[in-house]
Order: sequence, then C-alpha cells, then structure tokens
Amino acid sequence: MKELTHYINGAHVKGQSGRFADVMNPATGEVQARVPLANSEELAFAVDVAADAQPGWAATNPQRRARVLMKFVALLNRDMDKLAEALSREHGKTFPDAKGDVQRGLEVVEYCIGAPQLLKGEYSDGAGPGIDIYSMRQPLGVSAGITPFNFPAMIPMWMFAPAIACGNAFILKPSERDPSVPVMLAELMEEAGLPKGILQVVNGDKEAVDAILHHPTIQSVGFVGSTPIAEYIYATGCAQGKRVQCFGGAKNHMIIMPDADMDQAADALVGAGYGAAGERCMAISVAVPVGDKTADALIEKLVPRIEKLKVGPYTAGDDVDYGPVVTAAAKANIERLVQTGVDQGAKLVVDGRGFSLQGYENGFFIGPHLFDHVTPDMDIYKTEIFGPVLSTVRAQNYEEALKLAMDHEYGNGTAIFTRDGDAARDFASRVNVGMIGVNVPIPVPLAYHTFGGWKKSVFGDLNQHGPDAFRFYTRTKTVTARWPSGIKDGGEFHFKAMD
Ligand code: NAD
Repeated sequence: MKELTHYINGAHVKGQSGRFADVMNPATGEVQARVPLANSEELAFAVDVAADAQPGWAATNPQRRARVLMKFVALLNRDMDKLAEALSREHGKTFPDAKGDVQRGLEVVEYCIGAPQLLKGEYSDGAGPGIDIYSMRQPLGVSAGITPFNFPAMIPMWMFAPAIACGNAFILKPSERDPSVPVMLAELMEEAGLPKGILQVVNGDKEAVDAILHHPTIQSVGFVGSTPIAEYIYATGCAQGKRVQCFGGAKNHMIIMPDADMDQAADALVGAGYGAAGERCMAISVAVPVGDKTADALIEKLVPRIEKLKVGPYTAGDDVDYGPVVTAAAKANIERLVQTGVDQGAKLVVDGRGFSLQGYENGFFIGPHLFDHVTPDMDIYKTEIFGPVLSTVRAQNYEEALKLAMDHEYGNGTAIFTRDGDAARDFASRVNVGMIGVNVPIPVPLAYHTFGGWKKSVFGDLNQHGPDAFRFYTRTKTVTARWPSGIKDGGEFHFKAMD
C-alpha cells in the first residue's frame, strides 16, 4: 500500500504517530494509499521549523517574495495536467473541473504577486510640528490553514499565497481525503525558490487540528469546511488568542422570476446544481421559481437536461458531467437524505436512486435527483446535502422567494434570474447573503475581490483573497516620529492636540 508523507522542512517526512487514514479512489471504491495522521509532537516540530525560517522570509523584500510566486505560477501551468490528474484520482471530480480547481487557486497567486503594492502602508507628513505618522503592515509570524476535501488545490492556495506574500510561514493541514496535491504544491513552491520551512504540509485529523489550535507560536488559523467544525475552530482558536477566520457550509438559493429566460435558467441550474456532484459550497441546491406557471415551465425544461447528464470516472475526460462523491459515507448520507425527502412528502421528479455504472459498481457514484414541492420544514431543505440533489421550493411571489433565502441559516451565495433590473437591484440590496449572482448561478468572485458568506456560512471578520487576505495575514503597526527639534523640551504628561 502506498504510504503518503508530510512535507516538513523541505522534505517528505514519514508519519511517526502510527495512525493513518485510507485515501480512496472514489471512482473505483478502492483504497489507493494511506495518509499519516500527525500527533502534536509532529506538528510542534513543523512549527519550530517555521518559526526559525520566518524572520528571514519576512526580511526578504516584498518584490523578491513576489518573484517566487511568479515562478510558482509558471510551474503550476507547466504541471497543470499532472496536478489535475492527481486531484481527480483522489477527489473524483472530472479532469476539466480539476484543472479549474488549480486555475482558481492560481489566479489568487497571481493577485498576490501584487504584494509590494498591497502591503504599502500609510504616511502622514507633518502630522504635528516636526511630527510624522506612518503605519506599516507586518506579517503575523507562523500561520496555519485547515482545508476541506472539495477544493484540494484552490483553497490551500487561497490561504498560503497571501500568507506567504505577506512574509509569514504557513503550515497547511489539508483534508485527509485528498492530501496528495497539497504536498505537490509545497514542492512546487520550493522549486520556485521558497526557502525551506516557509510552506509545510502536516497531514492529520482532529488531533493535528487541536495541536494547531493550542500551539502558542501559531498566530492565525484559517479554516474552510463544514459549519459545526468551523464553529468549533473559531471558538477554540479565539479562546487561545489567535486571529481566526472560518468559512462553513451553505444552502444556496436561485430565484427564477417569471420573466427569466427559462432555457438559460435551466442550463445554469443544471451546471450549478450537479457540477462536481454538488460538492461545492457555491453549488445551487435550492431552485425557487416564482409562481406556479414559472415552476411548471422550469421543471419541464430541467427534466430532460438532468436525464441527459453523464456520470462517470475522471478518466473519461471531457465526456462526463460529474464524477463520484468523495466517500462511501458521503454517498450513504446523501441517499439517507433523499429518502427523508420522499418520506416527508417532496415529489421526486428525477429519481437517481439505484444508479450503477458498469465496470465501476463499487465507485461512489450517485445519479442526479430533482425534487419538486419541497417545503422549508423538510430535512432536505434545512440540511446541506452536498450531493447531486436539487430541491425546488415554489414561491408565490418575489417577496416570498426573497424571504426564503433570508430565513435560511446559511448565507454563502444566492442568485436571481430575471430580465428586470429593478428586481435584481432590490434582491442584491436586501438579501442577507454574502455573494450574489444576477443571471450568474455560481457567483464566486475573482481573486481581486473577496470571497465570503454571511450568517452560519462564516465566522470571523475578514473574507478570503482580495484585499481582505492582506489584512488578515498582517498586523498594522503605527509609528509617530518626531525629528529632531523639540525633542529636548522635557516630558509631556497629558495627551494634547498636535498644534
Ligand atoms: P469538514 O468540516 O469535514 O473538514 C474540513 C477540515 O476539518 C478537514 O481538514 C478535516 O480534517 C478537519 N476536521 C474534520 N473534523 C474535524 C474535527 N472534529 N475537529 C477538527 N477538525 C476536523 O469538511 P469537508 O467535508 O472536508 O468539506 C465540505 C464542507 O466544506 C461543506 O460543508 C462545504 O460547504 C464546506 N466548504 C465551505 C466553503 C466556503 O468557502 N464557505 C468552501 C468549500 C467547502
């Protein structure tokens, strides 16, 4: 059995704890490797290495740091196919989708090449007689990130690229389900010129996470994953005095107004609902047509599109629309939730139950499901299913549709499909959700804007990437300086205006 490693101090390091997790091939259902699960000593060793390396990196001027990222972008492009293949093999997503995973991370790396500009401080010349005030952004020291299985390239890069551009050392604890690509990324960063110890990968589960949360040297923790774990990490990390940002689960609604182009809306829903087998935090999992006529027209357009979806292994290349879900447990949980939908009275318009793929009978494939007449009290509406299951909740008017999105506990993304600019404007302005699409089903902002939801989809103050990332990974220091006259006038005992 292939044994994966950590990546510590510039080298592949075998696990010492004696604990391992199986890494599956979701398409075949076979165990393809085992990944070591670090204990607190292994984590502490990586932190010591990081703490030794970080001051030298922080003292490296920002344009030199940016040059490493420039080279890294070239290496990502060079190795794109290799990275995507390794990613698909462990995650199960299609090969083109795996490339997209790398690409959306790469774009944040490109943005971080602007670090010299983004890290510029502020300066007030002559704030008082002979007095200048300036502020600078300094790195935090050692930062850590804990990432989910569903974007094993993109989300690690969203964290480590800005952290490292700002002069921090970074310890990544990736998902134990698909840990190979994160290690490949760390190797490529070193090939690009990053000094040893600035980016390390420590594999593990809750034990490694708890070691991160309680290690006094680690200054900040970034987390992306499910909401219960996000809440735990936010509360524990903050109690330990760390700066923490946690991004959690989602239940994204798409409102379809009566004036929407139904073909366009149906195409958008199929891609956003079933792409990556629904394992995206920005997937649309609830369609909200406004009015029964709209709902009937939408269902009529959706059904043939959904029935045509091709489900298969990543090795089929462009020829599949989505692949298997990540584990047998995820598959069982999705099937359980589908059954609750049927039991609680939702109408299963497209029934993907019992799906099997010849030659891949043990893979974790799930056929596409479409529910109609879902109501807000049902489990399939309340819970994040994270599978190829789209629920339709019929709203009688726009206000009712808006209220649905607003009353749901999650607030990651949402979309409205309409030709009416007034409705779109009103929706974008009033809805209490972090990322809004207007005739765009998956409104993931590009690298130079920030990414983050509201409500139970986020814990913390600053978003991912964009300017917020440079705030999260730096501390502001403000210097008030007086040169040289007046310095010998004696002490001052009271705050006074600088006049
Ligand atoms: P998860 O919460 O199970 O795992 C995320 C990370 O937390 C992993 O590294 C895992 O090892 C660790 N972890 C798991 N259990 C833990 C525990 N008890 N204590 C400490 N650490 C623990 O999430 P997942 O299944 O890998 O990812 C899917 C979830 O991530 C979905 O809910 C999805 O919506 C969410 N997600 C959110 C965003 C966002 O930006 N809001 C983006 C991607 C995924």
